[in-house]
Amino acid sequence: MDGKIERHYELAILGGGIAGLGAAHEAAKRGYRAVVLERGAFCGATSSNSLRIIHGGFRYLQSLNFPRVLQSMQDQLELCRWAPHLVKPIKCVLTLDRFGLKSPLPVALAAWLYGGLKRLRPGLAGENRVISAAEVAKEIPLLAGAAPNGALLWTDALLNDLHKFHDFICGRLTALGVQLVDQCAVTAVRRQPEDFVVECRRGGEPHNISARYVINTLGPWINSLEKQGLVPGRTPFWCKAYNLVIKKQLDAQYILGRASSKGRLFFAVPRGSASALGTWYVPLKEPLAEAAVHKDDLVDFVAALNQTFPKAALNFSEIEHVDLGVLPCHSNHAEPKLLGSEVITADRGYVEVLSTKYTTFLSQGRKAVQALKV
Ligand SMILES: Cc1cc2nc3c(=O)[nH]c(=O)nc-3n(C[C@H](O)[C@H](O)[C@H](O)COP(=O)(O)OP(=O)(O)OC[C@H]3O[C@@H](n4cnc5c(N)ncnc54)[C@H](O)[C@@H]3O)c2cc1C
Repeated sequence: MDGKIERHYELAILGGGIAGLGAAHEAAKRGYRAVVLERGAFCGATSSNSLRIIHGGFRYLQSLNFPRVLQSMQDQLELCRWAPHLVKPIKCVLTLDRFGLKSPLPVALAAWLYGGLKRLRPGLAGENRVISAAEVAKEIPLLAGAAPNGALLWTDALLNDLHKFHDFICGRLTALGVQLVDQCAVTAVRRQPEDFVVECRRGGEPHNISARYVINTLGPWINSLEKQGLVPGRTPFWCKAYNLVIKKQLDAQYILGRASSKGRLFFAVPRGSASALGTWYVPLKEPLAEAAVHKDDLVDFVAALNQTFPKAALNFSEIEHVDLGVLPCHSNHAEPKLLGSEVITADRGYVEVLSTKYTTFLSQGRKAVQALKV
């Protein structure tokens, strides 16, 4: 990445995860002279651990949040158009309950509604309908016998290569004139009468940058800086989020979704000749700097997966890799719930972004840049 750090920018973006890159993209489109300061490699932290599902917002129908459904559809469509070689539509199947909101009748209604909303976003592929238990058993051997009430079939999108996608975005940002600086750790942000001073270190060397605006997208490290003269944003609870990557292919064509007996929703996602399974959330109990994979968490996670997808018959020796990230959540209860959507707070030219979804990074970036003028 470009090694030179200049003294003045219009906008300094702290943190080069997907949220920082989304903000940089919007800023560049609006003509800001922007720099992104990342202490490691771009998208090397939480953003490299996503399950890679690019959600189209079906789940928000449950809360009748139509604007959010449409926004997610738009985000999905934009990414499929941006990088059709990397973000591809994929069929998804979610097994249904016998009663309640996730039973066949309400879900069939939701599928019909979703189809109607999709017509407002021409270009989105795929069908949405309820399929029978027999159809599930015929099409998806892994779910045979596990979907007595049938399943919802819909189409979302999958990012098939995160690293190529991140390189693709960085290339695009550089072409738009954004300065990307990696291996540069920000240590402090101070408000001055007319602008901000951002202190950072690169290769042991200190730098002081002045910027008219600052966007803080440091993810779980959002409060790790010395901040002066800034109203801090919301401090959430934090949870660890795990995915397992296993050596066998559970299904090559579909993303499979099923809730555990405790109501935790899991997805099995094709990843080349392997599969990724997730996501398992546990409260973050250790200091952030020590967040690591715990064997006990994996034992619980594998047990819950085996209960949810019995035909997968997972065992520890099949685990190829464990993805781990830290995300903002509502509480530090044993079964934490992720914040429903991103949280953006603004204080006179200083904006903080807490992201809960990779999928929405473009629209989230748009909101963050709009908030600079609040
Ligand atoms: C297991 C898991 C599965 C997920 N699955 C999905 C999914 O399928 N679909 C979906 O849409 N979303 C998913 N997500 C959510 C999504 O990945 C996150 O919401 C998103 O990546 C967060 O991005 P971010 O830029 O806010 O954070 P990060 O990627 O953590 O970025 C913050 C950056 O700040 C940098 N940084 C920290 N301190 C400093 C400093 N002092 N100076 C400079 N830089 C610093 C870090 O190195 C890091 O690169 C998943 C997340 C996890 C963990």
